Amino acid sequence: MNHTSGNSNSTDNLIDRAALLLGTVNSVFVLTGAGVSAESGIPTFRGADGLWKNYSAQELATPQAFQKDPVLVWEWYHWRQDLILKASPNAAHYALSAFESIFEHFLLLTQNVDNMHRRAGSQRVLELHGNIFRARCCECDRKTEYTGIQGVSNDLPRCVCGGLLRPDVVWFGEAIPEYIWQDSLDFLSGTAVAMICGTSGVVWPAAAIPRIAMEQGVKTIEINLEPTPISNAVDVSIRAKADVALPLLVRKITDRPTSKIS
Ligand code: NAD
Ligand code: ZN
Repeated sequence: MNHTSGNSNSTDNLIDRAALLLGTVNSVFVLTGAGVSAESGIPTFRGADGLWKNYSAQELATPQAFQKDPVLVWEWYHWRQDLILKASPNAAHYALSAFESIFEHFLLLTQNVDNMHRRAGSQRVLELHGNIFRARCCECDRKTEYTGIQGVSNDLPRCVCGGLLRPDVVWFGEAIPEYIWQDSLDFLSGTAVAMICGTSGVVWPAAAIPRIAMEQGVKTIEINLEPTPISNAVDVSIRAKADVALPLLVRKITDRPTSKIS
């Protein structure tokens, strides 16, 4: 972290500015992406460790890949389920679950499929891209909780109807669940601050959220290790790890007595 005192763009100063924004409101929307789970040891898709057996996520997380080689795609998902089950939520997940008791109106929209927000205690969560521990039947659409056992067999998981099960996640090129998108936009339109954490801002339609917020006069805060397409447009862009910045933010907001406005 940059602790340069007197520099108005130091990480500490930016976190202070974000805390000031958050300290005066009672309605907050948060969008999270893979960066929030990075510190738990779950690779992001675009990070250095985003490859599996030399395949990129963009090659495997598609309906075409599943159609061509469901065994390979399920093998990848079983490997990811195993990795996620062995991992634990980090300080970013816990800080976001604390947000629920700080703000009267709160919604967390996550692109992550890893269930970590719920494991950290968050309840007001919408999963835009599904959940890796759920499967869906390709024939009858029935959903079931599903955790495979890594490397045990090449048998494909089947529904009670006999149809092939697929991971209940949104793959590249697929539509997101309309009701989740609509609920998110409804909440966003009435919120005071939107915070965008650990997302590259290139996966649509989630990437549209910051612009939609700005167009509606919602104040925006970004937390990301690297600059993204929205870094220059948001009100406060904090270049830091989410598991460092978010707990600091919680401490700063809860330390300062404020009179809240909606
Ligand atoms: P992404 O992989 O495209 O980008 C991750 C972003 O996080 C990058 O901008 C990176 O700079 C930032 N980042 C990395 N470490 C960080 C940290 N410690 N703190 C703050 N920021 C950090 O991820 P995305 O934007 O979420 O989109 C990719 C898609 O991949 C999504 O659809 C998501 O469903 C899926 N995905 C999910 C998981 C998961 O569930 N944990 C993991 C990988 C990918
Ligand atoms: Zn079925």
